[in-house]
Amino acid sequence: MLKLSNFIGGEFVSLQENYIDSYDPSIGKVYAQIPDSSEHEINLAVEAAQRAFHTWSKTPCSTRAQIMYRIADILESKLDEFALAESRDQGKTLEFAKNADIPRSIYNFRYFAGHILHMEEKATVMDNGFLNYVQRSPLGVAGLISPWNLPLYLLTWKIAPCIAAGCTCVAKPSEFTSMTAYMLCDIFKQAGLPEGVVNMVFGIGPKAGQALVSHPKVPLISFTGGTVTGKKLYETCAPLFKKVSLELGGKNANVIFEDCDFEKAVDTSIRAAFSNQGEICLCGSRIFVQKSIYEKFLESFVAKARQLVVGDPRDPKTKVGALISEQHMEKVLGYIELAKQEGGVIECGGKRKQLDGEFSDGYFVEPTVITNISPSCRVAQEEIFGPVVTVHPFETEEEAIDLANDNQYGLSCSVWSENGKRVRRVAESIKVGYVWINCWMVRDLRVPFGGVKQSGIGREGGEYSMNFFTEMKSICMAN
Ligand code: NAD
Repeated sequence: MLKLSNFIGGEFVSLQENYIDSYDPSIGKVYAQIPDSSEHEINLAVEAAQRAFHTWSKTPCSTRAQIMYRIADILESKLDEFALAESRDQGKTLEFAKNADIPRSIYNFRYFAGHILHMEEKATVMDNGFLNYVQRSPLGVAGLISPWNLPLYLLTWKIAPCIAAGCTCVAKPSEFTSMTAYMLCDIFKQAGLPEGVVNMVFGIGPKAGQALVSHPKVPLISFTGGTVTGKKLYETCAPLFKKVSLELGGKNANVIFEDCDFEKAVDTSIRAAFSNQGEICLCGSRIFVQKSIYEKFLESFVAKARQLVVGDPRDPKTKVGALISEQHMEKVLGYIELAKQEGGVIECGGKRKQLDGEFSDGYFVEPTVITNISPSCRVAQEEIFGPVVTVHPFETEEEAIDLANDNQYGLSCSVWSENGKRVRRVAESIKVGYVWINCWMVRDLRVPFGGVKQSGIGREGGEYSMNFFTEMKSICMAN
């Protein structure tokens, strides 16, 4: 069985003992083991990152960019291999890994390599002739912690801007999905990334993760994960005055007005609901539909949800793969039971999908659509993070805005209408970090990404990521 090693100071380092089982969720069986790292490994990795920082922080942008372009090129040449590994490790369909996870991971490196080549700082001259300019310096060793839903995509969304900015890092991927992060370390070596610039330590959150977050020589933490974990992290970081970026959970509204492009709204709502088994923080899981088209929308949406093939993640016909773990599957099924207790009607799905043969122990759940439930009940308020959505009618624009805003989270929202004035009014009234008008999950890496309320603190993307990984000093010079 494949045993992963940590990657510290440019070398693969094995642990003597203490490994964690890693499952292939589509068959429900252990297929690899990852190090259960502790404070000791984190300390070694931080020391390696500190040593590398002295040189990397002074390495010219053009050299840093060149290495990052090489990383992207090598990753691209191994796209199929990485997509297969991501699908096996996470349960997602091979198609999604091939078209979303790995291409976006490649682009993360290319985008930030290009970004640092084109960055410029403003200087100002005052009436009295004094000159002001900004000196930007990388902050040091960053702690990068990522979740299991888009493993390489979200990890590289942190590593790429971090090393582009001249920081070094210790990264801790999710214990559920460490495989592609491990494979990426080989690419770092091949691309000539100097030793210690990226260190990868595998292990569980409360142990390796907590040791990284509380390490006194790690002045900044970029975290993507659940809101409960984010709170704990924030508590650890506050007394140490660490710079923190928190990308947390979501329960995103998808608001559909009667004057929308109906077919497009239905098809995209299906993608927004069930892509990656609903395990995307941006999934549109609370669907609000204007009453005049509610029945028509529901009929079409449910018919299309029923057609989605659930099964072997590697079969090109499959649209919904396996959930990450048995425990997560039980949580998702628990919410469906709760919906029933709360009087909800299960329009389709509602059960574990039992497959035959090799996949009989896989963690599959049918795409599930729930109606007849109050928007204020738990199932419609809490993040389920699975292929489960609730659909609710509304009458007026004001009601739609109130319903969309009535949630502890504030990550994203989609609005569907062909009325330009209306979509602008609604988009500007909804309290989230990202609004998509007549589309979903279209990402321009230059614009700020992040949440409000319980969805997080801080913004990532383009210059916003650079602002996080660098410290800006203003220098004023007399004439
Ligand atoms: P999680 O919070 O359980 O774990 C995330 C990471 O934090 C993992 O690497 C884990 O090992 C680590 N961790 C756990 N406890 C820790 C601790 N005490 N100290 C340090 N690290 C610790 O989240 P998850 O279940 O892996 O991911 C799902 C969640 O992530 C969902 O809530 C989803 O909405 C959210 N998410 C948010 C975004 C976004 O951009 N806002 C993107 C993807 C996922």
